Formats: sequence, C-alpha cells, structure tokens
Amino acid sequence: MPPKNRFAELLPEITAWRRDFHENPELLFEVHRTAGKVAELLRGFGCDEVVEGIGRTGVVGVIRGRTDSTGRVIGLRADMDALPIIEQTGVEYASKTPGKMHACGHDGHTAMLLGAAKYLAETRNFDGTAVVIFQPAEEGGGGGREMCADGMMGRFGIQEVYGMHNMPGIPVGHFAIRPGAMMAAADQFDITVTGKGGHAAKPHDCIDTTVVAAHIIVAAQTIASRTVDPLKQVVVSICTVATDSTAHNVIPQVVKMKGTVRTMDPAVQDQVEQRLKEIVEGTALALGAKAELNYQRGYPVTMNTEENTGFAAEVAQAVSGYVDTNTAPLMGAEDFSFMLNERPGAYIFLGNGDTAMVHHPAYNFDDNAIPFGASWYAGMVETRMPAA
Ligand SMILES: [Zn+2]
Ligand SMILES: [Zn+2]
Repeated sequence: MPPKNRFAELLPEITAWRRDFHENPELLFEVHRTAGKVAELLRGFGCDEVVEGIGRTGVVGVIRGRTDSTGRVIGLRADMDALPIIEQTGVEYASKTPGKMHACGHDGHTAMLLGAAKYLAETRNFDGTAVVIFQPAEEGGGGGREMCADGMMGRFGIQEVYGMHNMPGIPVGHFAIRPGAMMAAADQFDITVTGKGGHAAKPHDCIDTTVVAAHIIVAAQTIASRTVDPLKQVVVSICTVATDSTAHNVIPQVVKMKGTVRTMDPAVQDQVEQRLKEIVEGTALALGAKAELNYQRGYPVTMNTEENTGFAAEVAQAVSGYVDTNTAPLMGAEDFSFMLNERPGAYIFLGNGDTAMVHHPAYNFDDNAIPFGASWYAGMVETRMPAA
C-alpha cells in the first residue's frame, strides 16, 4: 500500500505549512505563533475540540470517528520547537530570525500531523477517537513532561500514544523502530572542585584544583570501562571545564565542570550516579581538595511497548514497504518518553535521506517524506480503530 492518495493532493498545502514554520522558528515554550497557527488550522479542519495552553503552550485537538463502539482513544504527538542555531541551509524559506532554526525537523513533524488531522477530520473513517498532540519545548525544556503534568492523558482519555521523528541517514519513505529502549535517559551534572589557589611556582603551598579535576575526568571514564556491565549501554561525558584562573602562573582556587550521562536502564542510571559521586568526592579527598557533585535527572528512557511497536511497524510497512524493526537504539534523548511513561505506545523514525544530521546548521527536513509521515499518523488511527 503506497501513501494515501489524499496526501499526494494535500502535499502542496502541507509543504507550505512546513515552510512557514521553518521561516518562523520559536524556542522552547515560546512557540506562541506556531501554537496559534496550529490551533487555528485544527479549528478550520472541524476538529471536535481544540484546546490551547496544555503544558503552557501545547495544543491538543480531538477528532471523533464516525462511530465509537469501542471507546478507544489514540494519541498522536508532534513537537513544535526549534533550536538556537544560525541557519546555513541557503533555502529561500530560511529562518527570518537569526540564531533560531528548525534544525531538528519539528517543522516537518508539526506539518505532517496537521495534514493527518485534516484528513482524519474530513474522512472520520474510524471507530473511536483520535487525539492530536502538539507539544512545545522538546529540545531540553520538558514540554512533554509539562503536558502530562497538566493531566493531558486523563483529560482526553488517551489510552495509547504514538510519536515520530525524522532521521537523516535513513532513506526517505523508510521507517525504523525497535521494541524496548529506543532512546536513552539523559541526565546532566555539575562538579565543583575547591582547593587552595596561589602562585604557580609554589604548588606545595596550594591545593591544585586543576590536577584534582584532571584526575576526576580520567577516573570518570572508568565508569563505562570498569564499573558498568559491558553489555549495557552507558555514556559519561565531561564537556565543560572552567577554572577561575586565566593566567599562566596562577593555580586556580575553584574548577567547575559540566557533563552528561546517557543510559538505557534505570539500574545502570542509579549505578552511574552513585559511582560518579564516589569518584568526585573520593578523588578530591585523596588529593586534599573538596569536590561536590550536583546530579540532575533529565528525560527518561524512551521505552517502546512491545505490542504497540508491532502496530506501529505494521502501519509503516503498509505505508512504505520498508521498515527496519530492529534499528539500533540511540544515546540521544526524547521528551516523548514522559508520554510513554504514562501510556503504552511507540516512537518511530522516518527517513530524511542523505542530509546533514539533526542539530546541524545545514540540516533541513525533506518535504518528500511528508506523504509517508502523514499516512503513518492517519494509518495508526484507521488501523488501531477500524471503521465499524
Ligand atoms: Zn533535536
Ligand atoms: Zn527533534
């Protein structure tokens, strides 16, 4: 089964929405223009209910099928926010706001889900209720968490939920998914090392925080190599090191470091947090300094439910004929994980072809993927809630 013919007809319209979003990127929860346009379009399609302001700037649309004998309710989610990147695509619809850019393809996700909503509202060829979810602040702000905290799942009676993200490197029109962990949990940490600054020629009178920090950086690498089971995935990256000295001859009093931890398993996540604390405090103690770890848990693991992964793959297979059902998990993180923590569901990748990677200034969503993505969203509804 190729993509639905209706999406070939709707392609120019959906592409125009996508390019309009691309030209007008907004960050985190400040997606006021985008959310306003989404809500206006959903009302124009004749959605039964359109609610703004869920999770601050999220938008939810409700589309009832021709019948509702099962009482089933399915949620479909897209994200709306852009990134603080200076665009280098050179396209004529490039960002009009320097320093803001749709470099993760959320412009495409939002446009495809709008296309599916338009189609579902005009055909209603299903038995149950479709809920279309447009979330803000996927890029680090926890917009999905905010929408869940606002009671979205209960309020709209959502029983299962599906999300999609484009992925460079996978051919356009191909899909990729896996049951279980699809994306990692992402935590962040700050380390403060305090010693005794002083003259670089008198190290014996100082407690050199630079040396302590260096030992901590090296010792932290043993978490992945010596602490965690080699068959489990883990990343520990220390990405920022800042001393309070800018001189060639001053031993700094304080060194601050920042980093991230990525894991796929809650037990490993606990283990890493504990071990990192021991390494930070113990290494500093051994070298006569003090060090403090501030560890903050971020997005949880994006966990695809086995059964729902099967449904998502079946629909993708029907739409495109090309589905990798055992794609490798990624150590990136995804805010959709909060929705999957509340309801069973699945998250799938849609190929974006041979383009720059997401978050790169030359990345651009490929509009040729629209009929596949929009058909998948609509197909999830029609397949999970077949017309009575
Ligand atoms: Zn992103
Ligand atoms: Zn993204």
